[in-house]
Amino acid sequence: MEYIISGQNTIHKIHYATSSNYSKLYNGDNAMDSNTGTSWISKQGRVPHWIHVDFGIKRIMTSIIIYPGKKDNYRTLKYCYLQFMYHNKWFNFARVNFEESSTWWGTTYKNKVIIDLGGVDASAFRIYIPDGATYNGYAAIAEIEPYIGHSKIKYFDERLKGLFFPVKNGFLPNENSGFPNAPRQYRGGRHAGLDISYYHKEKSYDPLLLTKETPIYAADSGRIIRADWNYTPMNAKEWRQQSQFYQSNPDTFVKRSFGGRQVWIDHLNGIVTTYNHLSRIDPGIQKEGRVRKGQRLGWAGNSGLLGEAKGNNEGIHLHFEIWIDGYYLGTGMQLKDIKKYITWIFVNCINN
Ligand SMILES: [Zn+2]
Repeated sequence: MEYIISGQNTIHKIHYATSSNYSKLYNGDNAMDSNTGTSWISKQGRVPHWIHVDFGIKRIMTSIIIYPGKKDNYRTLKYCYLQFMYHNKWFNFARVNFEESSTWWGTTYKNKVIIDLGGVDASAFRIYIPDGATYNGYAAIAEIEPYIGHSKIKYFDERLKGLFFPVKNGFLPNENSGFPNAPRQYRGGRHAGLDISYYHKEKSYDPLLLTKETPIYAADSGRIIRADWNYTPMNAKEWRQQSQFYQSNPDTFVKRSFGGRQVWIDHLNGIVTTYNHLSRIDPGIQKEGRVRKGQRLGWAGNSGLLGEAKGNNEGIHLHFEIWIDGYYLGTGMQLKDIKKYITWIFVNCINN
């Protein structure tokens, strides 16, 4: 059984299962990615098809909206059933017709159907497509959206979809220690960001280390809430003292944190991103100033790290944090879920 992650910082996973997938590209999460342009498509077959959504815990719902999908631009569904579980058996709660009316010139179709539930609490539901409910043996569904009143039960946090990866052609971390929640002796014992150390050139996927000439870009538009123009590095002795102090006082505010020269952006929707260890800040970046998505913020570096304190190029990387409603991305989540979430957010980033 596959699963996806629900909401911005909900630990509960929403599980979903499908009877079959046309291919890996058309799997069940396409029906839950808040994008009506992508669909779950079943394999072809004169058999029932279904998609099962399981919240794991009871949730209340007042309506479910279904957007039928297409395969090769053709509609696949005449109708389907919305089912709930009662006494361990699925029963048909509502029949959902996608054909609107048939006249002498043809049939008209609905692009979405709103099913009024009248208020139910359930931990799971199923969209069931019996044999005979398809035109060509395929079942395609573009979106399934449960609502409580006017508010949608979110599977993913849509605010994060399609953020710009801050390093052009950057790789996700090689090591688990580069992901959020990895143990750290400082930062309260936990790593709260993503360490981006490698990128590749246009014509080759060979991983190259970031340098002080690697530009760092804004993940989304917003307002600069911090730009460390007055940053001064520590020397090696100060660095070791600070590090020692922080390790024994992880919850204490320290003036010289190890993020080095930083830029923070408030994206004005509850999301804040931070860019750490920069070697230089772009002259266009000032506190209170606005930034565009993809605008250059500065250049990668090793500020705040021992390498800088020792005066060498050791450890250059971007430490990048995404904060959602005050929690860092990955709070309370398992590593495999974080990886899944991150690849969903950055559609164009590559695993090293
Ligand atoms: Zn880091």
